Amino acid sequence: MPQAVTALPEYTLVRSRRRTLALEITPSGQVIVRAPLKMSRARIQAFVLEKAGWIRAHLAQARRQNQLAAQAGKLTKEELSNLRGALEPVLRQRTAHFAAKLGVSYGKITLRCQRTRWGSCSAAGNLSFNCLLALAPPEVLDYVVVHELCHRKQMNHSPAFWREVAAALPDYPARREWLKTNGPVLLARLPDE
Ligand SMILES: [Zn+2]
Repeated sequence: MPQAVTALPEYTLVRSRRRTLALEITPSGQVIVRAPLKMSRARIQAFVLEKAGWIRAHLAQARRQNQLAAQAGKLTKEELSNLRGALEPVLRQRTAHFAAKLGVSYGKITLRCQRTRWGSCSAAGNLSFNCLLALAPPEVLDYVVVHELCHRKQMNHSPAFWREVAAALPDYPARREWLKTNGPVLLARLPDE
């Protein structure tokens, strides 16, 4: 088959005081190229052209996920509140279970229906979880719980932190991957506000 001429994909350029080029596809399907302040346009374009195949594949994936989310439909306020109610006792039980296993304490548990994150852990040990985890497989919920509880030992994402996560859940990469791949589909089901 003759090779089609590769068109330069559309992208948004963000320059900053960084050393290397980086490429990012947002869940909405935007291509962002991060580049050092003084790098030439030509060099940046060559980089984007070189990655054109990767960009197209990831854009197709983002489109598929948005389609799936559109098919599944937006959740109503009532559905969200039901999900939250169903998740809360499970989450409390899983958190207590893994906290005992890891030997860590924690403060309050809050459930939020939010677009930005799956969980968080404050310096005081208060935990927050996304109510959309109710729609994720139980193994994925456990991963988010363990992730946040491991921040009670390491308040960062250092190799030491990931070693703690791996010690509790050796197969955590697959669970994390599920969230990376399918998480955007769940998040897209939140009602627009
Ligand atoms: Zn974290």
